[in-house]
Amino acid sequence: MTNAFLFCVGALLLVVGINVARVEINKLAHGKATELAHQWSTQVVTNTPFLPRILAAPKSDTQPIRNLGNARPVGPILGYRIYDPNGYLRVLVDAPVTSSGVNKSTFHTRIALPITSGGKTIGTIVSDVDASGFHDVLMAGAIKIGTVISVAISFLLFVSLMVRVASHKEALRSSNTLMRSDSVTGMPNQPAFLEMLATAHSQEVAQHTTTNLYLLNLDRFARVNERLGNSIGNVLLRLVAERLRLACGNSVVCAHINGDTFGVIADERTGKRMDTTLQQVFLQPFNFGQNVIRLSASIGAATSTAGLHSSDELHRHAELALRAAKTNGGHQLVAYDSDTVAEFREIDRIATVVEDACQNNEFELHYQPVVDARTRKLCSFEALLRLTTADGEQIGPDSFIPVAERIGRIEEIGLWTLREACKTVAGLPKHIGMAVNLSVQQFNSGNLVSEVAKIIKDTRVDPGRIELEVTEGVMIGDTDPVFRQLSQLQSLGIKIALDDFGTGYSSLNYLWRFNFDKLKVDQDFIRASDHNPKAQALLSKIVEVGRLLDMKVTAEGIETETHASRVADLGCDYSQGYLFGKAIPQTSLASVVISEFAEYIRRQTGGQADVDGTDVASG
Ligand code: C2E
Ligand code: MG
Ligand code: MG
Repeated sequence: MTNAFLFCVGALLLVVGINVARVEINKLAHGKATELAHQWSTQVVTNTPFLPRILAAPKSDTQPIRNLGNARPVGPILGYRIYDPNGYLRVLVDAPVTSSGVNKSTFHTRIALPITSGGKTIGTIVSDVDASGFHDVLMAGAIKIGTVISVAISFLLFVSLMVRVASHKEALRSSNTLMRSDSVTGMPNQPAFLEMLATAHSQEVAQHTTTNLYLLNLDRFARVNERLGNSIGNVLLRLVAERLRLACGNSVVCAHINGDTFGVIADERTGKRMDTTLQQVFLQPFNFGQNVIRLSASIGAATSTAGLHSSDELHRHAELALRAAKTNGGHQLVAYDSDTVAEFREIDRIATVVEDACQNNEFELHYQPVVDARTRKLCSFEALLRLTTADGEQIGPDSFIPVAERIGRIEEIGLWTLREACKTVAGLPKHIGMAVNLSVQQFNSGNLVSEVAKIIKDTRVDPGRIELEVTEGVMIGDTDPVFRQLSQLQSLGIKIALDDFGTGYSSLNYLWRFNFDKLKVDQDFIRASDHNPKAQALLSKIVEVGRLLDMKVTAEGIETETHASRVADLGCDYSQGYLFGKAIPQTSLASVVISEFAEYIRRQTGGQADVDGTDVASG
């Protein structure tokens, strides 16, 4: 294509050049002919001494002289004519020209020159000159030069065209590279990654091998960006990319898919090794300047199997596994497996419901009564969270609290709960307290004590009426910060209860290390004590331990009269359970308030409950 184009350009240049040259060559040829004619005329006049005489002779009717002797035409001079001053033709020598004066050759030319003698014009000599030889030589030269020049120009054009084509190709190549690589890390970007995945998958199908796909998402990277700014966030992404490249090696594809997500494609040989390699990438902190940052990643892994039809499906599996790793709290690798993913899908669904509820303030608090075990007087309520989806489905706190913890929403939910519960109890009779559950994660922020103090101050509730319940879970790991915060809460005047005692990581060790105000014996114990004397014996000992350590004891899950009287006989201080009432919404508390509740308890206990109606009504 390019060659044909350049050939045309060259030919065009040649034609144009030659035509331009032809005009000049014609002029040159005429000039040469004129010069020759001059020389010839001078020669004729010089070689014909009798010429003045011929021209001076009177006009006769005789034919013009056809032979002047020595003055014979030679070379390009084809012939000539000589006229006397009156214009009569006197000499006509072999001029093979037509009467029109134009001969077969283009460069025959006729030149008239005066003949002078003694300073006088005595006649005119008209010579026919053939300048075509000279013209042809010039033309041949012009064609040669033209050809050389046009070939040279074409060559130069060709070279410059080639240079431009090459630079255009280079520009295309680099813009293509730019389009396929991520600007922050320089790694292949998502479109390039998906293409490489499709290629790897089709090769694997042809070679009967497997492809291992990993999707890595940095945990809580948005917070890093918020705290340190996007530019440091970008530096971190670059450092992660470098580590990934180094750890994975050249045979493994690493890509930066978007934001804080990376992708890795490994073949069958490297596949399993990658599980450990990728997790090791985040073992060491990232150092730059003054900053030392620890990062972790959630990793979703999927391996192509025989039943897998496309690379898209493989990608989807890895995505599901990644979501499972994230929902499960992050900092882990989850390999795709249909059962695991189904389980995590459910968690994921609840996570969405929790997120929506946080956004739209859709949580509700219900309040379960707690009574004096012996007198059965209402003493307090326990605030329990309730969540109903838009479809009317009720999700229990046992399901959504762990999810809220996983997705980092528990702090805000917990503080909201405390504030609501404080507002509620502030409107109840003064002898009635309020218990609120705290999640272990609420101790991690370091703000818990100040936030609680603020809520107490804002709602103007007597802190002595508030009890915060923690489970044995808070005792795992580094207990010092938890105990320190619990002590600080106690010094605000708040009571601290150990909830679900006997089910979790029960250890007598922390019973003397922290001065709990109350032990809440888990309902499993109460239920087990129905038919298991050992459970009953243990229950009795727990109450004794409580008394020994100056702690009140609440029995949870009191569903029957037998439960109620048993725990009262064992010396429990408080009872809580369906026998005395399930958790009820705040609207029920507000309308009929507690006076009706006194009746309610009386009904529940078959008229045995002794509720201080006066106090309740006054609230
Ligand atoms: P929990 O703190 O031990 O609360 C008592 C749970 O036992 C409540 O379940 C209550 O409805 C149930 N219950 C009370 N009496 C009986 C009974 O006689 N029989 C039976 N079978 N169950 C009874 P719920 O409301 O489903 O709460 C479950 C757990 O969820 C709570 O156990 C608590 O650990 C957690 N939770 C509830 N609300 C919150 C909250 O606001 N924050 C935190 N962090 N956790 C909460
Ligand atoms: Mg509780
Ligand atoms: Mg409990």
